[in-house]
Amino acid sequence: MSKKFWDEKFETMNESGMKAFQLEKLKETVAWVYDRVPFYKNAFDERGVKPSDLQKLEDIAKFPFTVKTALRDNYPFGLCAVPISDVVRVHASSGTTGKPITGPYTAEDLDQWTDCMARGLWAQEVRPDSILQNAYGMGLFTGGLGFLQGAMRIQCAVVPSGAGMTERQIMLIQDFGTTALCCTPSYCLTIIEKAEKMGVDLKKTNLKTGHFGAEPWTVEMRSEIEARSGIHAYEHYGLTELMGPGVSFTCEHYKIHINEDHVLPEIVDPGTLDPVELGEEGELVFTSLQRRAMPMIRYRTRDICTLRREKCECGRTLVTMDKILGRSDDMMIISGVNVFPSQVETCLMEFEQVEPLYQIRLGKKGYIDHITVEIEVKSAMYQAGQGKLDELAKSISHRIQQVIGINVPIVILPQDTIERSIGKAKRIIDER
Ligand code: ADP
Ligand code: ZN
Repeated sequence: MSKKFWDEKFETMNESGMKAFQLEKLKETVAWVYDRVPFYKNAFDERGVKPSDLQKLEDIAKFPFTVKTALRDNYPFGLCAVPISDVVRVHASSGTTGKPITGPYTAEDLDQWTDCMARGLWAQEVRPDSILQNAYGMGLFTGGLGFLQGAMRIQCAVVPSGAGMTERQIMLIQDFGTTALCCTPSYCLTIIEKAEKMGVDLKKTNLKTGHFGAEPWTVEMRSEIEARSGIHAYEHYGLTELMGPGVSFTCEHYKIHINEDHVLPEIVDPGTLDPVELGEEGELVFTSLQRRAMPMIRYRTRDICTLRREKCECGRTLVTMDKILGRSDDMMIISGVNVFPSQVETCLMEFEQVEPLYQIRLGKKGYIDHITVEIEVKSAMYQAGQGKLDELAKSISHRIQQVIGINVPIVILPQDTIERSIGKAKRIIDER
């Protein structure tokens, strides 16, 4: 019988053991950056804190936050804590919101990242006899190589298909007998849709597990993927600033466990920046514990989330996080109400005539911000005539009004007009 955990010691460590380990690593990390990175030395000095002020885990709250602009201002290697001769790999974020964020790794950083990925994939049923098709973008983006490395450590057969060429992905799934599919959830939906059009029933292939991440997706979207493909849809979360994917992963009970021996999570109120209690929503903040090339101290992810320390049936004691509600950058304020695309998604997914595709268009009518939600519907519905379409649009608007409390017009677009995602789906089109 194969082992249940990839790294039993850390995955099932008791809370006090984990806290002691985190404290030891945290002390090392703050001293490491203070001595080596002028940006951190200045930031700590300005706050009047020294590495020696860190005596217990809670003392982390005395230290300054690090924000995305600090990474941009110090682009590309200003925050690097090691000479470039010790760097063996550099990744960068897609730069969806400006200049890319760089992620340099030492050989040891790379090794640890690989192990975090293997830990997640192992928890998600990937074994040496799996055939894993990796349809994340290969290259600067951390997703592609991160999944490749983790799968290689497990020593399963990897098919690095990369993102795109959807028909070929489906051919490979059939011909190679792929058992595990790695990609963004929105790309998985593109694959499912294409397979249906090609008359391929994914449920009749060997595909068993999906390893999805890199963008927000709702539980409803997950159920849709599972129902249409027969895949057990697992999740990964991470960001370039910390290591890439591998920060956290779901177990078989859909609980997202954080690799807290590598990253120390906190949740803060994004307004006041005060820490919030376990179980309360706020912005996720992480501090690197073992990274050496570019450790992050209290990095504000802008991802809105909740942390929980509850017993999980899987046996892992690693702290869990809820699904990400969204990035604070993507939060819209409509008639005074804060709205995330994921909340709109939840409402849309209640209607089975609606395709799991949408875009939110923000515009201006005079001085007033204006929002519309554009969707596509299943072909039978689309052909049912304007009267029926108007009725559907009305009921969706009504549902959004009920749940979120805002009035949003729904526009039903002709079929195949919303761009199909092969990576991170673009949900908001801002024309203001
Ligand atoms: P970019 O900022 O250019 O998109 P990254 O690839 O580093 O670059 O993206 C990291 C971000 O992707 C996270 O901060 C988060 O917003 C999002 N993300 C990653 N995984 C998930 C996930 N499982 N659920 C929700 N959001 C995710
Ligand atoms: Zn679990």
